[in-house]
Amino acid sequence: MIKKILANLEKSNCLTDNTFLQAVSEVLTSLEPIVKSDSRYERFAILERLVTPDRIIQFKVQWVDDNNQVHINNGYRIQFNNSLGPYKGGLRFHPSVTASVLKFLAFEQIFKNSLTGLPIGGAKGGSDFDPKGKSDFEIMRFCRAFMRELYPYIGARVDVPAGDIGVGSREIGYLFGEYKRITHQYDGILSGKPYAFGGSLMRPQATGYGVVYFAREMLAQELQESLEGKICTVSGAGNVAIHTIEKLQQLGAIVVTCSDSDGAIYDPRGIDLHQVRELKEGGRRLSLAEYARQIPGSIFTPKSEYLKEAHAVWQIPCFAAFPCATQNELTLTDAQKLVENGCVAVVEGANMPTTPEAIELFQREGVLFSPGKASNAGGVAVSEFEMSQNASMEKWDFDKVDRKLNELMCQIYKRVALTAKEYGVERNFVDGANIAAFKRVAEAMILEGA
Ligand code: NDP
Repeated sequence: MIKKILANLEKSNCLTDNTFLQAVSEVLTSLEPIVKSDSRYERFAILERLVTPDRIIQFKVQWVDDNNQVHINNGYRIQFNNSLGPYKGGLRFHPSVTASVLKFLAFEQIFKNSLTGLPIGGAKGGSDFDPKGKSDFEIMRFCRAFMRELYPYIGARVDVPAGDIGVGSREIGYLFGEYKRITHQYDGILSGKPYAFGGSLMRPQATGYGVVYFAREMLAQELQESLEGKICTVSGAGNVAIHTIEKLQQLGAIVVTCSDSDGAIYDPRGIDLHQVRELKEGGRRLSLAEYARQIPGSIFTPKSEYLKEAHAVWQIPCFAAFPCATQNELTLTDAQKLVENGCVAVVEGANMPTTPEAIELFQREGVLFSPGKASNAGGVAVSEFEMSQNASMEKWDFDKVDRKLNELMCQIYKRVALTAKEYGVERNFVDGANIAAFKRVAEAMILEGA
């Protein structure tokens, strides 16, 4: 049955590229032992329904730059599955965005959201707009134009987008402002809002902190190890990477790398996070090359060798590795180097940053591997906390959100590890995550009827 579904998807050619097929294939392979165990899955066509989005919304985004030049970009929202709750998932602004990339991300989001145990469905959206080099006013005009097209499709009980690559609290603020202007409604229709108007404390930190809480629990339970004093490598220098580094440093780990799309920093004394923030936060997207200039003695991978050296992060010996940049950034060659250098755990902060061949190697070699849908679910979980606070007009303090986030990440680890054990694939957290997430969504889909 699974082979047939994959073959049909390949044939259908409906906005289906390799990344989407990669994500679907990984999930369906994990589900093989369970789909035969319950005849309802076939009768209700659960797998076929699960790999088909409820709807794909595409629109034109027309905006004006600072020189009064008009530009056109494509905008999208993929509402994939709302069996567990309102559609929920980030918006990505990056030139690589296409409907099929978003389809893969929205599909993954269904499983991630299910794993949190919270009432949220799966979606994703965004645009091929490139925020790099744009002025603050250009970003604002683009966000307003984007929301003018998106607003009829979202709502606090319908679909609640959040941030992702290229969309932080500044962009969410502009999007929310425009929604309010158009509709005159002060609804929690976006999460990741600035604190001043309904954002949750800790939303910016949530994904990165959650990744580290998950890693801490997994290392303690599986290896009776802690992160204190351990060398860790992190890729990326955006929201997820910065907060992963911050929490790792708070727990006493020594983080020696970070990277951006131009190259990597290796600083054996430990990354100076203040310096990275100066270059990358608040909408600034300056090159990490500046880090090496500001902090002599660190080694910079030069821009001219960017293609060859984009993977430099994975050459550095480490105890644990945290890919936090983008999809398929950690390949088989990188994985071989990590194994050779004695890495014991790989914890994904980004969505699907590790290729299937690399995952297979980690699992074969006994490296603990956590898929992003489990370890980076802290972001969407705190987004759901924000929805709860907006609905009840409450404001939770930082410690309350942090405590709930830590508890939730430990629960996700437990759910994934126990499921893997129950299905005879102990320590295979990919299968554990896919099966645990699937069971919850499938049950809801059966109960709601076809
Ligand atoms: P940001 O836009 O804040 O940061 C992305 C970072 O990755 C940037 O520093 C970017 O470099 C860098 N980057 C992009 N491509 C590459 C590459 N090929 N090699 C090395 N670095 C690269 O995005 P986020 O931190 O929000 O998102 C990162 C990942 O985490 C994505 O996969 C996203 O889907 C996932 N995620 C994010 C969540 C969130 O809450 N934000 C929640 C769950 C998952 P540059 O500065 O040059 O652009």
